[in-house]
Amino acid sequence: MQELPPTVKLVAVSKYHSEEEISEAYEAGQRIFAESRPQEFEKKVRNLPDDIQWHFIGHLQTNKLKMVLPYAGLIHSVDSLHLIQEIDKWGKENGRTVNILLEMHIASEETKQGFYEEEILDIMFDSRKFANVRICGLMGMATNTDDEETVETDFRRISSFFEYLRDLFPEMEEFKELSIGMSGDWRTAIRHNATMVRIGTAIFGERNYSK
Ligand SMILES: *Cc1c(COP(=O)(O)O)cnc(C)c1O
Repeated sequence: MQELPPTVKLVAVSKYHSEEEISEAYEAGQRIFAESRPQEFEKKVRNLPDDIQWHFIGHLQTNKLKMVLPYAGLIHSVDSLHLIQEIDKWGKENGRTVNILLEMHIASEETKQGFYEEEILDIMFDSRKFANVRICGLMGMATNTDDEETVETDFRRISSFFEYLRDLFPEMEEFKELSIGMSGDWRTAIRHNATMVRIGTAIFGERNYSK
């Protein structure tokens, strides 16, 4: 991870890893960690140092917002208009503005969630309606494959759409993050102008799903 350019933020994906493992990375200087399950997220936030910046990267159900929104510096995985509306509502009720990324569907698998380009455009044009949500950029997951060309194509698509949106909405200064790249494809993501990479396995090793 020493090879990361200084402009790219390293998000350490600690899901399914122990608090001890997180503490070790913290001692080594890492401050941004990401989780994908609300219960695990909340528990780790309570038990670990206050100056950790916690991100949420998993599927977020609207009945779990209370467990996540008070503590999350950024939600990477916002994938429905309903979720945006509910986050905005929570923000109004709690006097907070919540930082989010819009998850864009770029993989060729059917299963990967996320918005299509037209949906993202509609949300961006309507973004003033969501006064308690701050749209900070886009997130994407490439097709899960060893085929470099496919991953290139996925990242090229999200990266150029991101630039298009930045040109179209220059007044949205906070719209500046492109969260792409995981353990297997972060080098490719950086070539396509990632500003954040989400790395789990390459930092912590294989996840222990029995926990
Ligand atoms: C688990 C996860 C990662 C990290 O994956 P690794 O391959 O372990 O680096 C990144 N992004 C999201 C959305 C994830 O769920």
